[in-house]
Amino acid sequence: MEETIVDCPGCNEPFALDVDAAADEQSHFVECPSCRQSLEVFVRCRSGEILSISVSVD
Ligand SMILES: [Zn+2]
Repeated sequence: MEETIVDCPGCNEPFALDVDAAADEQSHFVECPSCRQSLEVFVRCRSGEILSISVSVD
């Protein structure tokens, strides 16, 4: 697991997210710790490295 920082699209506050970099594509549903908004985080990885992360309001 890798910890990465993402920005909430609702309040722009950064928060930490655990990512399993062994999976090529994954999505997480998380709650922003600052504004409590429900967010979907989509992560693309390759060879254990995080390529891209996008965060959208669920
Ligand atoms: Zn937020």
